[in-house]
Amino acid sequence: MPLLDRFSRPLRSLRLSVTDRCNLRCQYCMPEQDYVWLPRENLLTFEEIGGIVDAFTPLGVDRIRLTGGEPLLRRDLSVLIASLAARPAIADLALTTNGVLLRPQARALRAAGLHRITVSLDTLDRERFRGLTRTDDLAKVLDGIDAAASAGFASLKLDTVVIRGINDDELVPLLEYAKSMRAELRFIEYMDVGGATQWTANAVVSRREMLARIEAHYGPMLTLEEQSSAPADRFLLPDGTTFGIISSTTEPFCASCDRSRLTADGVWLLCLYAATGTDLRRPLRAGASREDLQRLIEAVWSVRADRGAEERLSMDRQTTLVPIRSLKRDAHLEMHTRGG
Ligand code: SAM
Repeated sequence: MPLLDRFSRPLRSLRLSVTDRCNLRCQYCMPEQDYVWLPRENLLTFEEIGGIVDAFTPLGVDRIRLTGGEPLLRRDLSVLIASLAARPAIADLALTTNGVLLRPQARALRAAGLHRITVSLDTLDRERFRGLTRTDDLAKVLDGIDAAASAGFASLKLDTVVIRGINDDELVPLLEYAKSMRAELRFIEYMDVGGATQWTANAVVSRREMLARIEAHYGPMLTLEEQSSAPADRFLLPDGTTFGIISSTTEPFCASCDRSRLTADGVWLLCLYAATGTDLRRPLRAGASREDLQRLIEAVWSVRADRGAEERLSMDRQTTLVPIRSLKRDAHLEMHTRGG
């Protein structure tokens, strides 16, 4: 029997943040001038990550996504991937990256055993990219996607956060680009998570609005009916192209959420919106056995009742989730620390 929470949701997908550092400064995630970073000595070693993963897998975790910050900034990431890929309990091993460092690493990641890769891509326009990320790295990202497309991954996805007035006129060009790369595009509604200090309700382009715009261009599309806990709903265009929409803001999917997150310093979070988490690093470094950690994880998950995105939806959202002064006090509230 898989371990279930209070709403009968199984413990299944684990997102492992391997660093809180990032080489981009996306306006919807890291808009500030400076950040407080996790102390380096607190970052879990690969061995510690493996130990924690081994406490999760007997309880039902069989899908792992490596994220960050920017995971490709973590030195020797392929070593961690090879060690996770060698664990028979892990059926799905994926990575989310901004793509800047992907070209030189794509083949090694695949060779190490990474199954799937998702690259964040919000615009195809160099000036826009510069404005959004405060870097001039669009060419590197596109080159990284090109490298991933020929590296032999089981699937390649592109994730786009859609923001009104910023990139909402690029839905069709991005779909066409993804098609040309044989990648599946997923549009993400702009979320008011910690870190998104410039979020406003007006900047959110809803799933409904995205679908109307895409349909106006391509004609009627089909909704793909799938039994899945994956965050994206998928659609089929008349030309055979599939794409997804992750509607965490206007139509959240908390009821089927089997995801939890481990920060790079070992704090386990049950929801992207959670105010606090469970520190697994301390007991691990204090000598806790795998069984001890397992008991702790079991006790926490079995009373999980988080429905963060649904609760945010039911509020009258006039402000961002976390005020800047609180973000500055606790890096664990930041999206780039939690991992996407
Ligand atoms: N650096 C990697 C990347 O860029 O994909 C992984 C970490 S990033 C935090 C993971 C995902 O979170 C990205 O796809 C990013 O677009 C998404 N994200 C960050 N802030 C967001 C927000 N306010 N709303 C929606 N998605 C967001």
